[in-house]
Amino acid sequence: MSRIIAVAFVAFASLASSATAAEKLQALVVDGQNNHAVWPKTTQMMKQYLEETGLFTVEIARTAPQGTDPDFKPEFSKYDVVVSNYNGAPWPKETQEAFVDYVKSGGGFVVVHAANNAFGDWPAYNEMIGLGGWGGRNEKSGPYVYFNEEGKLVRDESQGSGGHHGPQHPFLVVVRDQDHPVTRGMPSAWMHAQDELYDMLRGPAENMHVLATAFASPDKGGTGRHEPMIFTVQYGKGRVFHTPMGHADYSMECIGFIATLQRGAEWAATGKVTQELPEEFPTADEVKSRKFEE
Ligand code: ZN
Repeated sequence: MSRIIAVAFVAFASLASSATAAEKLQALVVDGQNNHAVWPKTTQMMKQYLEETGLFTVEIARTAPQGTDPDFKPEFSKYDVVVSNYNGAPWPKETQEAFVDYVKSGGGFVVVHAANNAFGDWPAYNEMIGLGGWGGRNEKSGPYVYFNEEGKLVRDESQGSGGHHGPQHPFLVVVRDQDHPVTRGMPSAWMHAQDELYDMLRGPAENMHVLATAFASPDKGGTGRHEPMIFTVQYGKGRVFHTPMGHADYSMECIGFIATLQRGAEWAATGKVTQELPEEFPTADEVKSRKFEE
């Protein structure tokens, strides 16, 4: 009798724990090549940031350290959201096709910093990310996109290469849509920690919605334009969330960045955000960071 109870209890316990895991959103971070040597750490940081919400189970799919990795074939369709920390050689053709199918049919995709440098000549990828930099990007890739002083979105078709930044510095992120699930409740402007402020990004920028910008000050080598810093792209049925922020580990320790990533990933996965903002969120005057500890 007692043995039967024990067996029944074990069966119940394993059922309960698998049910909990099944309720979580499944996230996949892709990495393996990046011109930012800190990438193994920033992957761990993003994994931990997502897990600490209690909403996500996070796995990592890593390519070989260089060249096209013929064995890189993640089963994208198993996941609710894919986060890219990858900036390297092209993926195998069938992996590219599987990824396009995954997003097009409703998969979530999160693009962080140098992930928008990757795959300059992969048209579908550029449609997904909306805007990108470097990687041979130029006027053929699509317009420069920014806000002017009147707060109007400009699509600038002028010639020139895509992607630039001045020296790193802390900068003000200005929320342009306070009624989106990702930005709702954020102060209208908040200081982001030391980072590269990407400007002159260009791309197809179709079905793109800018949630926040940052002024790329000429004093800091910038364009003098209000550059997209948080934005979304609808690609087929898929939701893409993109932030060009996140150059270094200290950039990702910004509490504003962390909350943006956590909310952006949930939104990309589900179209909703259930997370409150942390109380210690940065203000328009003050950067707020949280030291990363594994
Ligand atoms: Zn960088």
